[in-house]
Amino acid sequence: MSARLIDGRAAAEALRARLAIIADFFRASTGRPAGLATVLVGEDPASAVYVRSKIKATEEAGMHGLHHPLPAKTSEAELLALVDTLNRDDAVDGILVQLPLPKQIDSARVIDAVSPDKDVDGFHVVNAGRLAVGAEALVPCTPLGCLHLLTTELGDLSGANAVVIGRSNIVGKPMASLLLGESCTVTIAHSRTRDLPEVCRRADILVAAVGRAEMVRGDWIKPGATVIDVGINRVPGAAAGKTRLVGDVAFDEAREVAGAITPVPGGVGPMTIAMLLRNTQVAAHRRAGLKPPEDL
Ligand code: NDP
Repeated sequence: MSARLIDGRAAAEALRARLAIIADFFRASTGRPAGLATVLVGEDPASAVYVRSKIKATEEAGMHGLHHPLPAKTSEAELLALVDTLNRDDAVDGILVQLPLPKQIDSARVIDAVSPDKDVDGFHVVNAGRLAVGAEALVPCTPLGCLHLLTTELGDLSGANAVVIGRSNIVGKPMASLLLGESCTVTIAHSRTRDLPEVCRRADILVAAVGRAEMVRGDWIKPGATVIDVGINRVPGAAAGKTRLVGDVAFDEAREVAGAITPVPGGVGPMTIAMLLRNTQVAAHRRAGLKPPEDL
């Protein structure tokens, strides 16, 4: 039996359509659009592509995108000064500083400088703490997108055995917190985990966020499990000089065993930007003293 495909593109499109309606309500209620400020330091081509697609999506979702490109030689003090200006700017609801930053800048200091209420990436330690204690937080976009796909696919997650492979602050740990918040029994696996295949075989929900091409094999998966593949790995393609994207899960094998699975590309990836837009609307509503819609 072949697993159901979890279509992240369709889910992201549906969410973005909903966000466009919410954006109209926000503008009508407050007299201004929600605003997302993006900051890109230097000209790293991959980062430039990411930022461009975030700005385009922001405008398409009826929000105001304010882009701040800075030269690669920008100092930490200059970047911190810009973040401070954006923190004080009432038209700015969300601030996104594209990572990685050039080596003369300490990313942790910059992340810490962003106002937690405008931290739409959810990377600030205050938001990590709020998520950990189950308080109102801005949650990192990728795990939030994974949770959206899971609850859409499965409904109530309570009581499920969930295994998250990866313990990074941007994916693994917040993913585990979100699943715990849904009353799953959560295991966090990492590079020191003993007998990882056996740990994975107990998972009703398996989230792979490792960064190792096709590491999770078909025989690691419990029959009928729901598999969320966060990994984005570039490997050599069929034609010489070409590459292709694969996830952390060996898709063709896993598909034969799992109940449902996200493809790469077209699974988790599209949800990340949709959730950035969602976080911006949520931040804008809270800053304006409005309650964000329940279904966001
Ligand atoms: P990190 O490199 O920060 O974390 C990787 C995690 O995987 C670590 O906790 C590490 O363990 C663990 N790990 C490494 N090797 C093994 C192994 N052999 N067995 C078990 N665990 C292992 O990566 P990120 O969390 O930032 O990203 C993970 C993946 O998700 C990457 O492929 C990235 O490209 C992708 N990604 C995709 C996004 C999207 O929008 N779809 C967004 C963000 C990331 P340890 O802590 O012990 O070192």
